[in-house]
Amino acid sequence: MQNNKLLIGIITGIVAGSCIGGFFPEAGVSIQFIGDLFIRFLMMIVMPLIIAAMISGICRFGDVRKLGPLGAKTITFYLATTALSVLTGILLVLFIQPGQPDTPSGESSVLQGTVLEKTEYRVENGIVILENLPPETSLTSSHSLTLLDRNISARVASREGNRLAVGSWEKNGTPLEQVSGSGKGIAFQKLTPERFLEEKRTITDILREVITGLIPRNIFQSMAENDILPVITFSLFLGAVLSTLGEQGRPVIEFFNGLNEAIMKIIHLVMYAAPVGIGALIAGRLGEAGGFTGFLPELLRLGKYAFTVIAGLLIHSMIILPLILKLFGKTGLKKFAANTSPALLTAFSTASSSATLPMTVECAEKKNDVSPRTAGFVLPLGATINMDGTALYEAVAVIFIAQINGITLGVPELSIIFLTATLAAIGAAGIPEAGLVTMVLVLKAVNLPIEGISLILAIDWFLDRCRTTVNVWGDSVGAKVIDRFVRLANHQSR
Ligand code: ASP
Repeated sequence: MQNNKLLIGIITGIVAGSCIGGFFPEAGVSIQFIGDLFIRFLMMIVMPLIIAAMISGICRFGDVRKLGPLGAKTITFYLATTALSVLTGILLVLFIQPGQPDTPSGESSVLQGTVLEKTEYRVENGIVILENLPPETSLTSSHSLTLLDRNISARVASREGNRLAVGSWEKNGTPLEQVSGSGKGIAFQKLTPERFLEEKRTITDILREVITGLIPRNIFQSMAENDILPVITFSLFLGAVLSTLGEQGRPVIEFFNGLNEAIMKIIHLVMYAAPVGIGALIAGRLGEAGGFTGFLPELLRLGKYAFTVIAGLLIHSMIILPLILKLFGKTGLKKFAANTSPALLTAFSTASSSATLPMTVECAEKKNDVSPRTAGFVLPLGATINMDGTALYEAVAVIFIAQINGITLGVPELSIIFLTATLAAIGAAGIPEAGLVTMVLVLKAVNLPIEGISLILAIDWFLDRCRTTVNVWGDSVGAKVIDRFVRLANHQSR
């Protein structure tokens, strides 16, 4: 399909999907399965693609010894761009200060929870009856209720007007017997999902996991679990050894060359489904968030924070990376970006760098003239370890949580955030909301409350899509720049 036609198709899909999911949330949710089909198609080809593209790419180098410098360049490029991205995020969040309240009792207290100091309450048979509760106060079972004058809390079970059914009462984590009587002053707090509180790993554990995870215990298990790094290692070894076997290795190499071509053809076919798939994914996710009426108030409530993340992502992707592309890749932005856009829009709709990999490879090889041998090596690696967007987001979010809690961070803490956000992004898998989980480790590294995550949870699905797009953009720019280095090195050695 022509690039223009495909792009127009995808943009139409996005507009239609946003309208359906935004205005008719239920209809959006009901067509989500079409988007799931699209993701499944992409995921179906990720593992065969990595194996075939890497092996056939490595064998094309002719000399295995050239792989070392290529690997070193790739890792250096990835680390340098990720570090630049974190730095942009840190400077921006310190400058904008999204976590500082505009007025003394304003934004931050609303974000930390709703505090109604003057509201009178009565507790009868496990039901809390409030003198008045603003009807717009949205309460779900993910909220807790605190009776301020007694300093006791319980989880909200359900609400009917001013009557709240609650679970068992606790004081500082200790369960209490029957509670009754009346008093004054209540507060609501959003509870932090267990999966974050149960996260016991530290940043060193994550690094250890990444390093031990490089070597698969069982290659088929890694493939079945869509674990990219071990599959990369396996393919590297197999490709390198095959290329030294001479005549004996030839048929196997030919097999992988053929497989690679076939997979690229399948990707080309899947592209036809992109407009519908991307549209359905957006409709479904927006519908799940309650359409525009459910999502926009949350976005506005966290507006300054979301603005800081998005501004940082824009600076990194529209100024810093294009400069690198121009300086080191000798490539102009406009055409390169237009050629990469199907992959970028797929990243936005799927929130997964791994699922987007087939599209990223197709755009790089077929449209941006990146040689298959570079793309086959650089892009799979980038999809799992190069996450500029995630790193920037983690730094901004952590500092925002500190600001909301009135905690001032000095240079030592900021340096730790700089380092751990870079490492946490490397450790995050290329799947939806992986960055949110590894962010817990950054919070722990500087002793900030993990509960802060519940503040930013409501709009994370949206920011995840924005940062995944930047992750994929960073990989694509990396492939182009490194390909140029490889070509130059080949030219000089001739
Ligand atoms: N969803 C992101 C990705 O796949 C990772 C993240 O959660 O930041 O690239």
